[in-house]
Amino acid sequence: FKIIRIEECVKYQISENQNNFIELNLPVDPKSFALILDRITTDDIILFSASRDQEIIEVRKLISSLLNREIKNPVVIKKTYEDENYDELIVHTSADFGSLLIDGLIDGVWIESLKHEDKSTLLSFRILQASGSRISSTEFIACPSCGRTKYNIEQAFEDVKKATDHLCGLKIAVMGCIVNGPGEMADADYGYIGAGNGKVNLYKSRDLIKQGIDEKQAVAELIALIKKYGDWKEKN
Ligand code: SF4
Repeated sequence: FKIIRIEECVKYQISENQNNFIELNLPVDPKSFALILDRITTDDIILFSASRDQEIIEVRKLISSLLNREIKNPVVIKKTYEDENYDELIVHTSADFGSLLIDGLIDGVWIESLKHEDKSTLLSFRILQASGSRISSTEFIACPSCGRTKYNIEQAFEDVKKATDHLCGLKIAVMGCIVNGPGEMADADYGYIGAGNGKVNLYKSRDLIKQGIDEKQAVAELIALIKKYGDWKEKN
């Protein structure tokens, strides 16, 4: 892919059948935006770039203008962050991109982290996965646990994750109790739900398949269940 600054579009017509990223810095000035409307071809990808501390709320208005003109090219947002703390980076990137992805307004994210460059790609995939835009790993759902949890849910969650994190596309719920767990595990493919002191029930979707399993055996039983329903793959 080639990245073309919007100013360069003035010099030549963008060629057809070539996937170019056409980059516009936020805030976008009206002249640059008019150029996009005039020069863009169906194969191009629009790249809105924001520097650190810059709000990207303006993107909603710009995308709305594109859609009003029937321009449905993919849109990617690139933003630079300088958070020292990785947890803060997660919060800031999720807040910036999450709602735009969930509303289907953008197609990709480009996180440029000055302090956590090595984790930027993984974080991008996590945000795409959480918003349902691109599934690239197993999805886990868990409750925070409470007084109704009568087994070691923290350990169980770690063990389930370790055993199944290569099953891309599957949703697995680890819940604390059978009172609210089945209802709160949303649309998980498999449920691992506490059922009293040291006991676990296993679900396939919303159907209860195995009851009262000792928690020490429950991860192995979950794997057996996933195999039985044809969703298991060996780790590479
Ligand atoms: S699912 Fe059960 S254990 Fe988990 S938070 Fe809800 S009530 Fe508590």
